[in-house]
Amino acid sequence: MKALQYRTVGAAPEVVTVPDPEPGPGQVLLEVTAAGVCHSDIAVMSWSAEQLPFPLPLTLGHEGVGTVAALGDGVTGFAEGDSVAVYGPWGCGNCFMCAQGKENYCLRATELGIRPPGLGAPGAIAEYMIVDSPRHLVPLNGLDPVKAVPLTDAGLTPYHAIKRSLPKLVPGSTAVVIGAGGLGHVAVQLLRALTAARVVALDVAEEKLALARTVGAHETVLSDSAAAATVRELTGGRGAEVVLDFVGAPPTTASAGAMAAVEGDVTIVGLGGGALPVGFGALPYEVGVTSPYWGTRAELIEVLDLARAGAVDVHTETYGLDDAPEAYERLHAGRVGGRAVILP
Ligand code: NAD
Ligand code: ZN
Ligand code: ZN
Repeated sequence: MKALQYRTVGAAPEVVTVPDPEPGPGQVLLEVTAAGVCHSDIAVMSWSAEQLPFPLPLTLGHEGVGTVAALGDGVTGFAEGDSVAVYGPWGCGNCFMCAQGKENYCLRATELGIRPPGLGAPGAIAEYMIVDSPRHLVPLNGLDPVKAVPLTDAGLTPYHAIKRSLPKLVPGSTAVVIGAGGLGHVAVQLLRALTAARVVALDVAEEKLALARTVGAHETVLSDSAAAATVRELTGGRGAEVVLDFVGAPPTTASAGAMAAVEGDVTIVGLGGGALPVGFGALPYEVGVTSPYWGTRAELIEVLDLARAGAVDVHTETYGLDDAPEAYERLHAGRVGGRAVILP
């Protein structure tokens, strides 16, 4: 089969032919219908050989949907032909966190060598993929695969980040989304669907600000050194109760801290290497700073339900498998509107 692989540290990913995978006991083989392209893959491909926590070559793609093509020995609960989404942050299934569906925070994944598809295990940008357990599948139940596939990360990650801050997003509050890309443009929609907060989106690109307005942002602000002051002005001096930073670079984390309200939440989702100091005088009183990773199994079910209710419409650009390297180039250049989706 054809697959998009990251093969050499520092080189661009390549379309190659690899052996067709076969499901082992307990595993499920999917014929991939759609796979999403995430900026985290670009971060991974910027790491040195020493930083990479898994060997190459790696088939990319940690957002996947597909049709069940074969069931390994002992698998029940799904049948060939079922259309399913893949829950990507695979864990052991048994530890204290996994028992709560929080496989994204599995306590034993590292020790057991369990890695998500596309981030260590063979990923979704291929004609077929292996899913390690039916526990990691959620039925699409009528959702369009192209619109649904980004929900497994670009939907699930902001959903998890927003859900933990929901008590702060009361009427009259403000939520800021920094970076209106794949994750950010879904975050704007989730905030509109789940809260009465005023939603302010920040980006460096005018077309991304336009997309943010299209999907429901009340205000958009150019992300520069004046942005924190602008948000404070827009909120009558109060600041934003919740700031979601989907860039996470030093200038955006600094802005995020500076625009937060007293008792606000600053949530750093982007892998841009920024951080915020906590301590008296560093931030407004009682600001909480956190960096969440992906989301839980139950939350993926919730996000797909929300999409089925019509509350989220992911903007997508589609590419054939042969053009997948171009999708990564465009994402790297900041030229993807919404999410790039590969149709293998
Ligand atoms: P993307 O490239 O689709 O979107 C990033 C957006 O940020 C773009 O619109 C870009 O114009 C904008 N941007 C760049 N610099 C900016 C700045 N200084 N101020 C404001 N906006 C700026 O990326 P994505 O796939 O949505 O991923 C976003 C980030 O989240 C990445 O760092 C990715 O690695 C990370 N991520 C984290 C998790 C997690 O679990 N924590 C999960 C998925 C992705
Ligand atoms: Zn991702
Ligand atoms: Zn576990």
